[in-house]
Amino acid sequence: MIYADNAATTPLCEAALVTMNRLLRDCYGNPSSLYGLGQAAKEELEKAREEIASLIGAQPREIYFTSGGSEADNQAILSAAAVGKRKGKRHIISTAFEHHAVLHALEKLKKEGFEVTLLDVHEDGLVRPEEVAEAIREDTCLVTVMYANNEIGTVQPIGEIGAVCREKGVLFHTDAVQAVGHIPVDVVKDNIDMLSASAHKFHGPKGVGFLYARKGVALTNLIEGGAQEMGRRAGTENVPGIGAMAAALQEAVTEMEARAAHLTALRDRLIAGLSEIPHSALNGDALRRLPGNVNFCFEGIEGESLLLLLDDKGIQASSGSACTSGSLDPSHVLLAIGRVHDVAHGSLRLSLGEEMTEADIDYMIQAVKEVVEYLRGFSPVWRDLVAGKAPFIL
Ligand SMILES: *Cc1c(COP(=O)(O)O)cnc(C)c1O
Repeated sequence: MIYADNAATTPLCEAALVTMNRLLRDCYGNPSSLYGLGQAAKEELEKAREEIASLIGAQPREIYFTSGGSEADNQAILSAAAVGKRKGKRHIISTAFEHHAVLHALEKLKKEGFEVTLLDVHEDGLVRPEEVAEAIREDTCLVTVMYANNEIGTVQPIGEIGAVCREKGVLFHTDAVQAVGHIPVDVVKDNIDMLSASAHKFHGPKGVGFLYARKGVALTNLIEGGAQEMGRRAGTENVPGIGAMAAALQEAVTEMEARAAHLTALRDRLIAGLSEIPHSALNGDALRRLPGNVNFCFEGIEGESLLLLLDDKGIQASSGSACTSGSLDPSHVLLAIGRVHDVAHGSLRLSLGEEMTEADIDYMIQAVKEVVEYLRGFSPVWRDLVAGKAPFIL
């Protein structure tokens, strides 16, 4: 079996598993309790906070633990909106290819009277900092642009976008769920005010993540209750999950350079192999993308059938985002970069893992070639294209 859906979630690493086991078994105290067992848990919690902070260039007090990336995105956006509302600023800038955790939070704000500008993403899958600058108005209270896209893997010029926002005095949030643990992220260098991350995207457990909020950024609570997380996120802390997240991030950052080099070589081999398929196209810039992300469109086929047949060949992959699968709408990300509906339907995302070898890549290339050819063999859309009844787009 080849697991090629690491953008959806990653397997738990040994370091995270060992830490989680230890904390679950031995460290069951409530961090808010004053006796020894509680304080031991509190120490683990604060140690994890310090570790995570140092790995992204933040201060420990700027890290708020959450239940994952979606919660962090929601809290960041709703917090900025609350501040904006108080100041009479009700304009937010984002992009058309954000994760739904961002897009749906913005939809909610629109219903409350906020105006949202969704910037176009260019064909290369990149947002232009100068277009962010042009879109900023007197009443803009937030810019939120994802660090790396979860479907096509393109890595945005976040440092430049952050600099634009800092200069204009507008809060800047980035959904860095796909970036943290995979590529270097430094909240100070990148001028980031708020950042979301999720453990299960870097070999940590599911259901835990964090929000970085720069000192002085006012957060609104999504969950009311006790005074945990500096009063900004109530509920007894998920100590085992948080400790495991810190262990996973520590390992991911330590291994980052070596892993990225390995994955980039595999990625480029896979891109070269799949490019040989006629009437296919890579989605997103070939170089400014995550080390492990490959995303293609194949004309004349259905992504869903492609996935089922690849599954038969032992390859676990996705047509885009796990969150939109099950719906028949083509990916909003592919539409945002200008793919037409028919082409966007024939998409395939292979997100690679560190354990993969060149042989795995070659097997995937062969399998995709066979399956695409097979599906085109009885696709009416393909027949029309070949007969010249409709023009090829790719
Ligand atoms: C996975 C993902 C999320 C959601 O994170 P969860 O921890 O699953 O809630 C948000 N944004 C991006 C870009 C993601 O890839």
